[in-house]
Amino acid sequence: MTFIRPEIIRPPSEHASYYLPLTAGCSNNSCTFCNYSMSHLSMRDLDEVKREIDAVSLYMNHHVRVSDQPEIVYAILRRWNGKKLFLQDGDALVYPYPKLIEILRYLNEKLPGLERIASYATPQDILRRTTDELKTLKDLKLGILYMGVESGDDEVIQRIHKGVTHDQMVEAARKVKESGILLSVTVILGLGGLKGSQRHALETARILTEMDPDYAGALTLTLIPGTPLYDEFERDEFDLISPFDSLRELKTIVENSNFTNCFFSSMHASNYFAIRGQMPADKERVIKQLDTILAKRDPALLRPEFLRGL
Ligand code: SF4
Repeated sequence: MTFIRPEIIRPPSEHASYYLPLTAGCSNNSCTFCNYSMSHLSMRDLDEVKREIDAVSLYMNHHVRVSDQPEIVYAILRRWNGKKLFLQDGDALVYPYPKLIEILRYLNEKLPGLERIASYATPQDILRRTTDELKTLKDLKLGILYMGVESGDDEVIQRIHKGVTHDQMVEAARKVKESGILLSVTVILGLGGLKGSQRHALETARILTEMDPDYAGALTLTLIPGTPLYDEFERDEFDLISPFDSLRELKTIVENSNFTNCFFSSMHASNYFAIRGQMPADKERVIKQLDTILAKRDPALLRPEFLRGL
């Protein structure tokens, strides 16, 4: 079957990367809020991936273009500095392990200037690998994995069909950290709805503490038409929290989480207010910042709805 190159969806910190698709879609296509829900996972043929790596190498070393590559390859290459590479798509770590190893080896051989390879990974993908397998990937420059945690509250996790439990996500984080690969996680403000808001925030703080990632980002729930959660909302079975309540959740998470050394932020475009800090050093400053905005309750201080993004 012909592989259809996925649209570029990547973490903000991968903005300068080359985007190399190994898969399209997500293997855990069940999360009710996500635009990958019900997507069909397809795997790209190994030889096709290698041909793209050959083309990238030829362009970077000799500025030569080949005709069998799509224009997007050269659009990315024109602004690429050769250092970071992001494996697409929703969870490229699901790509069969022996083939993944072969691709990483090939990347190292053809693009020796690469400094870091990155990928999204579901907790299930990580749990399928041993720590030694993850260490092997790390030795081949897989330097960071991005994992969606969404919530620490088992009730929420089950309701959104994440397919894992709180404890399984903590176990996945432990494996990544043990392998030496950096771990970046995201949680979603508002995912517990109105009634479950406080427990969602407290349990999310608890899971973040237990995972102790290198990076943690808070996003704010944005309902996407066509997703099961959007339909629940339309049927009055799910309530959205207010923008200020999302900041109250954020404050609860910051107050109740404890990190060894984590860059925590809410800079994603979905959020109503951006905070950032190296935790634990900046914890008190961030809490004060949130206290001030929560006391003023001035909508002019929030990102306007029309500027929010996914
Ligand atoms: S695992 Fe991640 S990418 Fe896949 S459907 Fe769930 S939230 Fe979306």
